[in-house]
Amino acid sequence: MPQEVLAEAATEMLDWHGSGMSVMEMSHRGKEFISIYEQAQADLRELLAVPAHFKILFMQGGGLAENAIVPLNLSRGGNVDFVLTGSWSQKSHNEARKYAAVQVAASSEATGFTSLPDPASWQLSHGASYLHICSNETIHGVEFQELPDLKALGCETPLVVDFSSQVASRPVDWSRIGLAFGGAQKNLGPAGLTLVVVREDLLGQALPICPSAFNYKTVADNQSMFNTPPTYSIYIAGLVFQWLKRQGGIAAIEARNKAKAALLYDAIDNSQLYLNQVAANCRSRMNVPFFLRDESRNDAFLAGARAQGLLQLKGHKSVGGMRASIYNALPIEGVQALVDYMRTFEQTRA
Ligand SMILES: *Cc1c(COP(=O)(O)O)cnc(C)c1O
Repeated sequence: MPQEVLAEAATEMLDWHGSGMSVMEMSHRGKEFISIYEQAQADLRELLAVPAHFKILFMQGGGLAENAIVPLNLSRGGNVDFVLTGSWSQKSHNEARKYAAVQVAASSEATGFTSLPDPASWQLSHGASYLHICSNETIHGVEFQELPDLKALGCETPLVVDFSSQVASRPVDWSRIGLAFGGAQKNLGPAGLTLVVVREDLLGQALPICPSAFNYKTVADNQSMFNTPPTYSIYIAGLVFQWLKRQGGIAAIEARNKAKAALLYDAIDNSQLYLNQVAANCRSRMNVPFFLRDESRNDAFLAGARAQGLLQLKGHKSVGGMRASIYNALPIEGVQALVDYMRTFEQTRA
């Protein structure tokens, strides 16, 4: 979270803009909250340049719930294609199987998920209801630098993108997307809010068993207020959107993210101790997994980092090693502090 946003929320906690209420105490149908909601919608649409024929939905359940909600809404009883590029796309694939006939169009599992299969090699099934990718694999640190252009591959299948850990870190090419979803807690705000951006022509095709609160058309027709939305999370996300605009928008944030990632990858590549195994053309700008060539030094590395105030560097348990998540809100000074520590640690006992 940007510090500025936390400070602003703290100031407004007890009395939002002289309303005499905390945002948590407002009716979601009252004029105060409606103004917060509308501002957040408008700011996000502007920031991400979301075209008018897409709906922006504020939902709940996180990325994991969307793994079920997407097939419930879009599979139409037909085939669904998946590209497996790491833990998150695997999870999505396993969940979708409950609701649809699922096919793997491509997988990079044989490389240990350190590369991305070239879209030209994907085995797209004929007439699939959609194709799912994860645009940034948070655990494996693999990111699509460009979304696949399915139309150029001669395929009209809508592309579904899990952009939970990539959203708002770079511009989005909506011309290639049917639906994108993401939990808010990586780049947009606190947990509890799930963002869904969906092309209007994909609405209204949900399976009869789809819960009403998860039916995109129902949610869209009710301005994301079919049920009570996560009001406080939406409010904080709205403050993050304003903060992003003050930073100069997504182009400026992308430039910062590029510089942050380059600083860290250069430090890893130019060391004798640290190693990142992801192919250069698909290294994530948000999540940088790395290993110590001498794994017996892992605990000492983490303890020393903690002593410097560098927290949460332990890698995901499924891959081990270390992982630095360097989301939008982390300033370049944070990455510089990590890189300085890594150099010092390497030199102290080479
Ligand atoms: C964090 C994450 C999720 C999980 O979302 P929840 O909000 O925990 O359900 C899904 N996909 C990706 C790519 C993620 O990084």
